[in-house]
Amino acid sequence: QFPFGRRLPCDIYWHGVSFHDNNIFSGQVNKFPGMMETVRKITLSRAMRTMQDLFPLEYDFYPRSWILPEELSLFVSEVHTMKDSNPSWKPTFIVKPDGGCQGDGIYLIKDPSDIRLTGSIQSRPAVVQEYICKPLLVDKLKFDIRLYVLLKSLEPLEIYIAKDGLSRFCTEPYQEPTLKNLHQVFMHLTNYSLNIHSGNFIHSDSVNTGSKRTFSSILCRLSSKGADVKKLWSDIISLVIKTIIALTPELKVYYQSDIPAGKPGPTCFQILGFDILLMKSLKPMLLEVNANPSMRIEHEQELSPGVFENVPSPVDEEVKVAVIRDTLRLVDPQKKKRKDTHVTVPPKQQRLGVQEPPGLWEVSPWQGVDEMSSKVPPKPTPSVILCCRCPSSKQAPEASEELPDAPKSPEASLPSLCLKQVFPKYAKQFSYLRLVDRVAALFIRFLGVKGTTKLGPTGFRTFIRNCKLSNSNFSMAAVDILYIDITRRWNSMGIDKESGMCLQAFVEAFFCLAQKRYKSLPLREQVSSLLEVCECRLAALQGKRLLWGCG
Ligand code: ADP
Repeated sequence: QFPFGRRLPCDIYWHGVSFHDNNIFSGQVNKFPGMMETVRKITLSRAMRTMQDLFPLEYDFYPRSWILPEELSLFVSEVHTMKDSNPSWKPTFIVKPDGGCQGDGIYLIKDPSDIRLTGSIQSRPAVVQEYICKPLLVDKLKFDIRLYVLLKSLEPLEIYIAKDGLSRFCTEPYQEPTLKNLHQVFMHLTNYSLNIHSGNFIHSDSVNTGSKRTFSSILCRLSSKGADVKKLWSDIISLVIKTIIALTPELKVYYQSDIPAGKPGPTCFQILGFDILLMKSLKPMLLEVNANPSMRIEHEQELSPGVFENVPSPVDEEVKVAVIRDTLRLVDPQKKKRKDTHVTVPPKQQRLGVQEPPGLWEVSPWQGVDEMSSKVPPKPTPSVILCCRCPSSKQAPEASEELPDAPKSPEASLPSLCLKQVFPKYAKQFSYLRLVDRVAALFIRFLGVKGTTKLGPTGFRTFIRNCKLSNSNFSMAAVDILYIDITRRWNSMGIDKESGMCLQAFVEAFFCLAQKRYKSLPLREQVSSLLEVCECRLAALQGKRLLWGCG
């Protein structure tokens, strides 16, 4: 540990909290700049809302949410309208303070008028969300899933998901919310930090009993009852990819501000904790994303009153050790060097000369991982085809890709990887969702001064001019008014005091321009049409500049 930094550079920096724990200029850091801000409850809800506006069906895995206090009246009016149109709808809502964790400050309400307006809401903004009333129960208890996801690279996007996760159980039998049981946290909130204080909490000594179990043990149980576990996994993978696609625009803005392109700087990776709730129907719903998931593999035990001891927790150990071990294996700089000195054969897909089947989830998404590390050459069945996708150019082949007489890498003696690549593996199926990413690329292009995350009025005008978006119906004066209106509103909501237009404000302005121009189309087509126009005009401009440069 180097709490005060270290003079000699390292290959990998493992920071405790954030990217900014040390000043670093090379190697790899286990945190992205701005990740903590990006996954805060309010920012996540905003990013998901933008995606829900564009792709309502694809993003229906995030509960309907409103931001308090700024959307209080919208929340009240929308709930009234929904109740009027469907009188049998008896919703419950969950209020969660922004930046809170471990269930801190969370409460349930039946009616918008029950929001506790005194004091805290003004000083501590919150998200109010539709409460999922019918979760899947195991042993009559509500539980949620903590899944570990490795964001290995932002550009190009590389995502890995851990094969196993944790299931964290409530400690009181679940009942659908009523005015009488709304306050019963051990029934409604699955947080370990809360339930540990319940007399019913059972420290697990195996992976399939007690108040914290492995997710795989739940899957086994569901599978034995005939549930379609493959479909569940594919839904979860899809939820993870879509969520990261929603987060990348903001992350890219932070990234370029801390590590400007062309300047020396580290690269980043990060382990994220996804909290997912399964509905009775087995549909996974995203609750939140944690930038710093706990990696503790021990828990405290009270030996005698007031005397505590740390004892190993087999369930945590089973899941978390593998996640950290394999993250290090994937980012290991030595691996690349070893790869360069090893004789390798081309990926199996090319050797067999077969194409990937069109269906995304025809076989268990995890079969690929197991096959990859198996010492016995797998048979050319569809599952082999799935596991044999060409690895990305940056990725070293796995041990089984090496010729038998090649020198064995230290990896050969390790267990098979618990982290499974899902992006770019499934990029084709999800790339059409990356519209806001393209809007963010425009934003970053016009930011101008390095080290900033906000666009000034001149940058916005240059964007409009270079993309030729102003005309007789939309004068430059109207451009300035649009900039001022939107920027002022966003800055009045935020805690960030830096002046200028933030990414979300730019996205709103962009949507506004797209709607103006392509009135009759659905929003996603309006946005993609305007993007095409902008990208095309900027490419033409770039071409002209190059030509002038040569001339
Ligand atoms: P925190 O960061 O404080 O843990 P979460 O968003 O994870 O906040 O919520 C805490 C717990 O509340 C979750 O673990 C889950 O059990 C429950 N919960 C959160 N949101 C919902 C929801 N929309 N519907 C049902 N239960 C929820």
